[in-house]
Amino acid sequence: MNDCLFCKIVEHTVPSKIVLENDQVVAFEDINSQAPTHILVVPKKHIPTLNEVTPEDQNLLGAILMAAIQIANDRRISSSGYRLVWNTNRGAGQSVFHIHLHLLGGRTMAWPPG
Ligand code: 5GP
Ligand code: ZN
Repeated sequence: MNDCLFCKIVEHTVPSKIVLENDQVVAFEDINSQAPTHILVVPKKHIPTLNEVTPEDQNLLGAILMAAIQIANDRRISSSGYRLVWNTNRGAGQSVFHIHLHLLGGRTMAWPPG
């Protein structure tokens, strides 16, 4: 946990462009943006992947999702459309092992994802 990049961002010891913070989550701009809006919503609690989530995290997962929806509204991409992505483990593209929800929007997106 001590060596976790997103824990350091949560603790503000690694700088980031924070767009929303509350008692449960921090949301910040992705450093390698893949869309006009590309924000990561992370829980303050360190959880490596969705596979380690327990029933007691149910409220926290809701808080992450609600934050993403709120940011989409604030950015006025709710109508044009946005995508929420949760990569789990390396085969799905996860590279930082502290769960994070990607909020992507502001451009047209293809389906299925590559
Ligand atoms: P994953 O590949 O695990 O689903 O997503 C990790 C995301 O974290 C990537 O989109 C990557 O660009 C982003 N990222 C990696 N390092 C940093 C960093 O130091 N700061 C910020 N803001 N984003 C980062
Ligand atoms: Zn962490």
